[in-house]
Amino acid sequence: MLASLTVLYRGVLSSCNYSCGYCPFAKHQESAAERQADRRSLRRFTAWAQQQSDLALKLFFTPWGEALIRKHYQQALITLSQTAHIEKVVFQTNLSGRLDFLQQADKNKVALWVTYHPGEVALVDFLRQIDDLITQQIRFSVGVVGKPSHFAAITELRAALAPEIYLWVNAYRSRSRCYPYKPEQFFFLNQIDPLFNINAQDYQSLGKACLTGEQVISVDQHGTIRRCHFIDKKLGNIYQQDYRSVLIPRPCSRNHCQCHIGYVHMPERQLYPLFGDGVLERIPSSVSMS
Ligand code: SF4
Ligand code: SF4
Repeated sequence: MLASLTVLYRGVLSSCNYSCGYCPFAKHQESAAERQADRRSLRRFTAWAQQQSDLALKLFFTPWGEALIRKHYQQALITLSQTAHIEKVVFQTNLSGRLDFLQQADKNKVALWVTYHPGEVALVDFLRQIDDLITQQIRFSVGVVGKPSHFAAITELRAALAPEIYLWVNAYRSRSRCYPYKPEQFFFLNQIDPLFNINAQDYQSLGKACLTGEQVISVDQHGTIRRCHFIDKKLGNIYQQDYRSVLIPRPCSRNHCQCHIGYVHMPERQLYPLFGDGVLERIPSSVSMS
C-alpha cells in the first residue's frame, strides 16, 4: 500500500520578474485570466494535498517562472507546511521577493532551491536575502548556471557565502547540449561545486529503473499525472479517486536524463544516499544548514 509520495507541481504560472537570457519565461506576463486560473488550480491542488492524510507527502514546486513573489503561492506554502501529514514543502525560487511571510510557515518543513542569476540582481542584495533565510532558519541550497560569463560572479558568490552553505552549479546547456568546457573551466566549476561532475553528464536512461511514476510524480494545473517533467505521457489524474492505481514501477522511456530533479530518482545513480533528506532541495546530507 502506498504510504508516501513526492509530488512535483507545475501550474499555469509562466512569468518572471527577471529576464535571464537563457530562459524562455524572462519578463513574460500572464493575462488576468491565466493568473486567475493559476490561483484556482493552486487552491485545488492545496486542498487535494491536505486531503491525502494517509500519505506522507513531500511537495516540490518547480514553476515556469517565479512563484514566491505571488501571494497565493506564499499562502499555499504556509498552509501546506502547517498540514500534519505533509513532511516537506520545497520551492525553486530566484529569492527576489519579500521573505517575511515565511515567519508564518512551519520552518521545519520548508526548504528552498535558490538560484542566483548574475546580471539580474546585485550580489549585495542577493546576500541580504540569504541572510534573511539564515536568520529565519530556513533550509536552502544556492545555485548558479555555470555559464563562462558567470565565472567572476560565481567566484564572488562562493567567497561571500559561509563555507557550510552548499553552492551547486548547473552545467550550461544550449539546446540540451552541455557546453564544451575546457579542462581548466571544468576544474574551476568542480572546485566551486564538488558535485558539478554529476550534473555535467547526460545519463542514458532508456529502459532503466526510475522511481518517478511510482514514488515521485509530476502534476500540472489540471491534476494530470506524468511520471516526470521530461516525459509527456499522461498516466492519470490526482483528482480521480483511483489515481493511486497508476503509481507502479516502469522503466524510463527517454534516451537521456540531464537534470537533477530527474536523474536523482534513478536508483542506478545512487544519489539518495548522497543527498539524504535534501534530495529535493539539493542539499547533500554531509552539509549542515543549521
Ligand atoms: S529567474 Fe528563473 S524563471 Fe526567471 S528568468 Fe531567470 S531563469 Fe527564468
Ligand atoms: S530517468 Fe529522467 S527522464 Fe527518465 S523517467 Fe526518470 S526522471 Fe524521467
